[in-house]
Amino acid sequence: MSNADYIINRDSEYVAHTYGRFPVAIVRGINATCWDPDGREYIDFTSGIGVNALGFCDAGWVSAVTEQLTKLQHISNLYYTEPCGELARILCQRSGMKKVFFANGGAEANEGAIKCARKYSFMKYGEGRSKILTLKNSFHGRTVTTLSATGQDVFHNYFFPFTEGFEFIAPGDIGELKKKAGGVCAVMMELIQGEGGVLPVDPEYVKQAAEFCRNNDILLIIDEVQTGIGRTGSLFCFEQYGIEPDIVTAAKGIGGGLPLAAVLFGEKTCDVFNPGDHATTFGGNPIACAGGIEILKRLDGAFLNEVKKKGEYIRERAKKMPHVAGLAGMGMMIGIELEPGISSADVVRAGLETGVLLLTAKAKVRLLPPLSITYSEIDSGLEALNEALKRI
Ligand SMILES: *Cc1c(COP(=O)(O)O)cnc(C)c1O
Repeated sequence: MSNADYIINRDSEYVAHTYGRFPVAIVRGINATCWDPDGREYIDFTSGIGVNALGFCDAGWVSAVTEQLTKLQHISNLYYTEPCGELARILCQRSGMKKVFFANGGAEANEGAIKCARKYSFMKYGEGRSKILTLKNSFHGRTVTTLSATGQDVFHNYFFPFTEGFEFIAPGDIGELKKKAGGVCAVMMELIQGEGGVLPVDPEYVKQAAEFCRNNDILLIIDEVQTGIGRTGSLFCFEQYGIEPDIVTAAKGIGGGLPLAAVLFGEKTCDVFNPGDHATTFGGNPIACAGGIEILKRLDGAFLNEVKKKGEYIRERAKKMPHVAGLAGMGMMIGIELEPGISSADVVRAGLETGVLLLTAKAKVRLLPPLSITYSEIDSGLEALNEALKRI
C-alpha cells in the first residue's frame, strides 16, 4: 500500500463522507507546488479554494504566524489584543469601510451581515422589512440561513424548515429588483458568482442596483468571500465596480490558510451592533489575524497589478488549448468554458494524472491559483492542463 493509500483509507473509515474527495493526499508544499506522501508533484491552481493567497508556507506569513504563536494564541473577545485591531485598521483604511467584525469562515461572515441588515432596518422601520433579495445562481454558504440565501434549488433540500425572508432575483434584471423591493432591508450579491460558474454580474446592473438601494435605504451587501483579498486584481472586487457597499464580507484568502473571515461595515451599518448582539468565540483570533496582517501588507498596488497580469497571461494561453470554448472571470479568478460534451470534472481528474490541481465551477474548469504563483509555476501548470485537455 502506498503512503497515500494509507492516509486515504483511514480517512474514508473515520471521517464523515460529506466531501467527494479526489484520491490524492497532500503532505507539504512551497508556494504553488506541492507533493503527495509518495513524492508525486503537483502544481496548485486551487490555493485550497482561494484560501492560500501567498501559496504554501510563505516565509513572511509563517514568521508572522509563528511569532504570534509564541506570544499569545487566544484570550477571547472579552479582552483586547494587538493583531485584531491592527488588521481591522488596515482593512478599513484600504477599503473605505468603517468597522470590522471578525468571524471564522464565509458562511459565518454572511450570517453576521444578514443579522446586521435586519437589525438596521428593525431599529429604523420596525417589523415587516426583513426580507433580503439575493441573486439566482448565487452561493452564500452552508449554514441553514446562508443556504436559504443561496439562489440555487439544489441546496434547498432535506434541511427544512429553512430560514424565512429570502427571495431570489435574476442577475441583470433591474426591473425585477425594483418590483420585489417591498419589505426588503437588503440586497446581497457576489460580483462574480464563483461556485455558480465564474459568472461576472453586469457592472451596469450592479451600479443601478447600488443606486436604487441607496435611494430607498436598502442595504447593499457584497459577498466578497471568493472575490476579495486581491483575487480579482484589486483588494476588493467592488472597487472595480465603482460602488460603495454598506456591508462587505470576506473570508477565504484573508487568513492565508488559517480560518479567518470579516464583515466590513460602512457608514450606515458600523454602529448597528451593540455589545451582546453578535459574537463568536474564535473570531479575531490573534494568530489568524497576525497572518492576515502579513497578507494585507504584501498585497500592495504593485502586487495587485501582478495579479492582473498573471491572470491575463494564464487566460491568453488557456484560450488556445484543446476543447476550450472561452474564458471568464477577473484577475486570478478564472473560469474555463469547455466545448459542449466535455465535462469539467473529467478535466480535473485528468489534471491529477498530468500533475495539476484544478477546480470546477459547474460546467467550467475553475482556476484560483495562489496570488504569489511564479511564472515558471504557471508555465508548468499550464503545460499539465494542456496535456490533461489533450487526453480527454
Ligand atoms: C466559499 C464561499 C462562501 C462560504 O464560505 P465558507 O468559509 O465555506 O463558509 C460564501 N460565499 C461565497 C461567495 C463563497 O465563495
